[in-house]
Amino acid sequence: MTVRIEAAIFDWAGTTVDHGCMAPVAAFLEVFRRRGVIVSAAEARGPMGTHKRTHIQTLCALPEVARQWRAAFDRAPTAADVDAMFAEFIPLQLAVLPEHAEPVPGCLDAVAALRARGLRVGSTTGFTRAMMDVLAPEAAKRGFAPDVIVTADEVRHARPWPDMCLRNVMELCVSAVDACVKIDDTIAGIEEGLRAGMWTVGVVMTGNELGRTESELAAMDPSERARLRVAGHARLRAAGAHAVIDGIAELPAVIAAFEARSRSSRAA
Ligand SMILES: [Mg+2]
Repeated sequence: MTVRIEAAIFDWAGTTVDHGCMAPVAAFLEVFRRRGVIVSAAEARGPMGTHKRTHIQTLCALPEVARQWRAAFDRAPTAADVDAMFAEFIPLQLAVLPEHAEPVPGCLDAVAALRARGLRVGSTTGFTRAMMDVLAPEAAKRGFAPDVIVTADEVRHARPWPDMCLRNVMELCVSAVDACVKIDDTIAGIEEGLRAGMWTVGVVMTGNELGRTESELAAMDPSERARLRVAGHARLRAAGAHAVIDGIAELPAVIAAFEARSRSSRAA
């Protein structure tokens, strides 16, 4: 096992920017609403992290969505329906992305600390390249600019397949997959890292598990916030994450712990 971590590969929305992973949710609800199908925010968050077209397809398969669709159209949704909704989703998503580029608390300091230790910084996302062409320059203006961005439409298989992570390995010139840490706020993103053979870290409070902006999180009833925190940690741990943290401010310490675990397992 590799004893030195060489790269951190970050997810975008809910992990490094867009506290609560808010940007995609409203756009998903809208494309279904236009067809008389009401999807809840909780339902819309379920497949988060996957390619946005896949995400729409997954929502169509939910029993309650399928039921409403049959009531409206007297048939099941088809691939052409999914294509049409994805086509409408794209401009809705592009329009709001600049408002969702703010780095989450602790992001810039954590990335700076990792770079100071010589780590390279990669990224993967469920967004397409056209979406990242809007989001990435806005995030860069605010101080977050990874060395590599691989998008869901640039690989044969997006999450939960490992393709985007493995392309990061090659583009970042990392010597081994287990010298990488994948950091993500969704189950699909944790699975992507695991399938790539990487260390994986789940983030809870800034991400899709809580689904709250920074101000919404601060205004939450503390007992409700604590309940969702515990549930979110449990879900990402159950997805197989090697560590689960509240936000990426904690990441440098976690990476040091992974390196210590590697050293002790090699010694054993
Ligand atoms: Mg995310």
